[in-house]
Amino acid sequence: MSNESLRQQLALLYQLQQRDSELLAIHQKLQDIPRQIAQLEAGVTESEEETAAKSAEVAEVEKGQRAKNAELEMNAEQREKYKNEQRSVTSNEAYTALERQIEFLDEKDADAEDVLLNLMEDHDRLKAELTELQAKVTQEKEKADTDTEQLRQELQTLEAERDEKMKARKAFLPKIDKVRRDEYHRWMKAQMASESGAARAKAGFIALGKKGTCSSCRMAIQPQTLKEAQKYEKLVYCSSCKRLLYVEPPTPDIPFP
Ligand SMILES: [Zn+2]
Repeated sequence: MSNESLRQQLALLYQLQQRDSELLAIHQKLQDIPRQIAQLEAGVTESEEETAAKSAEVAEVEKGQRAKNAELEMNAEQREKYKNEQRSVTSNEAYTALERQIEFLDEKDADAEDVLLNLMEDHDRLKAELTELQAKVTQEKEKADTDTEQLRQELQTLEAERDEKMKARKAFLPKIDKVRRDEYHRWMKAQMASESGAARAKAGFIALGKKGTCSSCRMAIQPQTLKEAQKYEKLVYCSSCKRLLYVEPPTPDIPFP
């Protein structure tokens, strides 16, 4: 293998890595979008549940109001009965006893009316809160619908972009020596198999050597290694991060990367 061809192979490998890093970014976005959609849905559901709980509170207060009103009606009926009895009693004692019963009913009415007043205030407050929550749900739903639609479109665009890039990648692949690309694929596969490796895969299999520095680990390349790498006679690896090095040629007339 001539020097130029190894240098070209390194350049092609680097290009392949660039393509794959773009594909990885798209892949990640494609995975994120359904999560984002689910989050939007969860937000709306939460607000709906909050609204339902408030509705239940309102219903509870209304139930209390109905009970107190029924109590007042019963008291009124009872009061009417006592008053009728007062018309037919013959003794003062019996009359006074009925009078006390009526007074007792009046006290009970006063208590019930106090409670009713409080319930009415609660009802007004809860109703206002409920109206606010309902408006919030409507607004959130609209926003979630719009955002979801946008995310779905983004998903479609990304899928099309990914398919296009995969096709281009497939066409590009034969330019690289089979040995080189097999080595690259084995490495990528091994990285992707582990969570921490996925981050490593993003950083890459092949590292550019620019101005005497490894672009992957940011460490200076040892002068001897750099000299060796610039000959493009054999594969040279970074002594710090162990990545395959593709270094800047010694003269600027050769294209890089
Ligand atoms: Zn390095």
